[in-house]
Amino acid sequence: MVPSISSSPVVWQPETIQEALSVKEKLGHESCFVAGGTYLQLQWIQNRVMPRDLISLEKLNDLKKVKKRLRGQETFLEIGSLVRLVDLQAGLSDFSETKLLLEALPQIASPAIRNRATLGGNVMSKKGELLPALLVLEAELLIQTPSGSKHLTLHNWLDQANRQEPFVLTHLYLPDMTMEKMEAGVTTAFFKKTARREAFVPSQVIVSGRCTVNVNHCVSHIRLAVGGTDHLPERLLQTEDLLLGRPLNEETLSKVYSSIWQSLHPLESPFTSPQYLKKVVANLIIGQLYELAFKLK
Ligand SMILES: Cc1cc2nc3c(=O)[nH]c(=O)nc-3n(C[C@H](O)[C@H](O)[C@H](O)COP(=O)(O)OP(=O)(O)OC[C@H]3O[C@@H](n4cnc5c(N)ncnc54)[C@H](O)[C@@H]3O)c2cc1C
Repeated sequence: MVPSISSSPVVWQPETIQEALSVKEKLGHESCFVAGGTYLQLQWIQNRVMPRDLISLEKLNDLKKVKKRLRGQETFLEIGSLVRLVDLQAGLSDFSETKLLLEALPQIASPAIRNRATLGGNVMSKKGELLPALLVLEAELLIQTPSGSKHLTLHNWLDQANRQEPFVLTHLYLPDMTMEKMEAGVTTAFFKKTARREAFVPSQVIVSGRCTVNVNHCVSHIRLAVGGTDHLPERLLQTEDLLLGRPLNEETLSKVYSSIWQSLHPLESPFTSPQYLKKVVANLIIGQLYELAFKLK
């Protein structure tokens, strides 16, 4: 394969995933994949060196589709990694299980950036603000390596050390979480982004969650996740365990506060202390759970 631009940086435009992987294997660490290029652009502005070779994924048209898929008995929403955020916003309105993503998408960057940025780039940067919502929706990733393809949960992938073998993220899968699939009850889902001011600025912290309270007024389903520009996205597993099976009363909510306080370890930043961020996360989550409890009265 020959590059489409041969002056520095050299740009390669493979037409298949296999071609992309073999170029990456040949060029090694001196090269990187580019989808929309909007995250990488920020990195380069912040003085990170631009690699000598850029492998554009733009021609992998099969990775630009959103479809419903049946795997065994389960229905999944399959989203190609190269689907742009603007198209995701337009294409998801038919899928009720993705309301949470529809709430999150307008809060990511500006319309001009969403017009270039892809879902895959948001995930692969490990800093993307959609990650907490995708953790709550129990997203799975399909990656293609030179030795084959592999499914893994987003949660596990975020936990793993950096892979040595090159890979392309090809698809994300969202399981069906429509009401018919869940236990009967009242559900809330939320995505809250806090930033230093109301503009297109990086987040301080992102909190996302989904909670169902069953007919006995006890929590029957709970997913909570935190992320943001300076916080590696994570599920709040200890707090989820604590909530499951309990009624949403004052005693439970006060335990939720302590659990978040103990288990969350935000990084120090020039503008916010870890204690402040813990308080923000705890208050946002408790506020949402309190509203849900109020609906049940
Ligand atoms: C002004 C501005 C504001 C922004 N605001 C926000 C914001 O509010 N919230 C937010 O989350 N982000 C924001 N971003 C960052 C960025 O726009 C998003 O994270 C975007 O979704 C990244 O997608 P991309 O296609 O541009 O990724 P790229 O920049 O092309 O790639 C990002 C990383 O992922 C890798 N990669 C991409 N696709 C694949 C793939 N399929 N397989 C393997 N590796 C891959 C690349 O090698 C690179 O390391 C902003 C960027 C700018 C310039």
